[in-house]
Amino acid sequence: MPTAQLINELQSCGVRLVDPKAGHESRRGGAGPSDHKALTIDGMTVMVPVHTAPAFESPYVVDKPDALGRSRLSRDGVMLAAVSFPTRPRFYDRSTADGIPYWKIALLHSHDVLATTVLQSCIRYQSRTKTCQFCAIGQSLAAGRTIERKTPAQLAEVAKAAVELDGVRHMVMTTGTPPGRDRGAAILAESAAAVKQAVDLAIQGQCEPPESDDWFARMREAGIDALGMHLEAVTPEVRARIMPGKAQISLERYFDAFAAAVPVFGRGQVSTYILAGLGDTAESILSTCEKLIAIGVYPFVVPFVPISGTPLESYPAPSPAFIHAILSPLAQMLRAGGLNATDIKAGCGKCGACSALSTYERRAAT
Ligand code: SF4
Repeated sequence: MPTAQLINELQSCGVRLVDPKAGHESRRGGAGPSDHKALTIDGMTVMVPVHTAPAFESPYVVDKPDALGRSRLSRDGVMLAAVSFPTRPRFYDRSTADGIPYWKIALLHSHDVLATTVLQSCIRYQSRTKTCQFCAIGQSLAAGRTIERKTPAQLAEVAKAAVELDGVRHMVMTTGTPPGRDRGAAILAESAAAVKQAVDLAIQGQCEPPESDDWFARMREAGIDALGMHLEAVTPEVRARIMPGKAQISLERYFDAFAAAVPVFGRGQVSTYILAGLGDTAESILSTCEKLIAIGVYPFVVPFVPISGTPLESYPAPSPAFIHAILSPLAQMLRAGGLNATDIKAGCGKCGACSALSTYERRAAT
């Protein structure tokens, strides 16, 4: 297993690829963290920034891989580890009957997660005064790398193929926020129902808190096994600066929604993504995590990645020491609270490839 420190370093600094085409297509644009490539180190797959400004200057270098995708990670000419790139999934070669390549409908994340953005547009993305500054949801759409609305039938078809051809083990369904009070819960529910009819695959849905808590039971009944409602930033000042539109949904509403969702999905099956490095202090992130764990919500803390083309592309990436100062005590808090990444049925917390948190959790357990 790579050390937590090495993963922290790679995710903060990124890596320089001697062959930029190494591995299968990287994540560029899209919702949430992006500009990564999946890299397997000692059997563990992590997402590492490769297209960001820090990555172009990174002291970490990955050689051109051989025909089997095997390569070497080095720093200052000193070899650190053997690495490999997950091979291109077989479902990427298929297309729907109407000619849409499956990879425009869903992507492989890490090595065993199918991920899709059901609706590739957002009420908050059109306006500079409302958009989340870190988000690139419109970039992949503008570049023709995806389609705006994935239908339930398309998602079911792709999910079935990804399980059968590539052994995918769980699915992440995120969405831009549509107009309306459900904030995306309705399209997630109808999409999950269609996937579950086609194939037995655990699903995490990700959306903003809907206006009515009734949506939690409806999403669960439709086949969503785990739910993510993402805070991203945890203090009102940072939320207002970084995500002025989404910050209109108060922290109180998020916590009320978490409290209502946990009894429906189960303790540890509701999670939230927190981007460390946007301005929140380590103390404020940890005190929020403490409150979340107390009510059964898994806080998935991820280092912020400055995505090219977003307003934050020149914002500094957090230092490995800052991330360590959060993840090390957080792993202890999770353990004391009885929450564990491996117990999550589906989603980012279970996948864990965008953060070293699960490595810290394993370390805390020994
Ligand atoms: S943690 Fe989430 S966003 Fe990151 S690779 Fe895994 S599924 Fe994708």
